Amino acid sequence: MTKRMEEKNYGLECRRCGCRHFYVIYTRRVLGGKLIRRRECRNCGQRMTTVEQEK
Ligand SMILES: [Zn+2]
Repeated sequence: MTKRMEEKNYGLECRRCGCRHFYVIYTRRVLGGKLIRRRECRNCGQRMTTVEQEK
């Protein structure tokens, strides 16, 4: 099942082009209830990883 992976960002900004829109490539849950998300800039393709605390 492919769901459109678009989410609200939270002040995240591409280091390369300053774009604020990212695709989420994958989400992975790790110990401690954290979510690691791999994101890719929609504009220039710059990739970055963010860590979120799961509620
Ligand atoms: Zn970018």
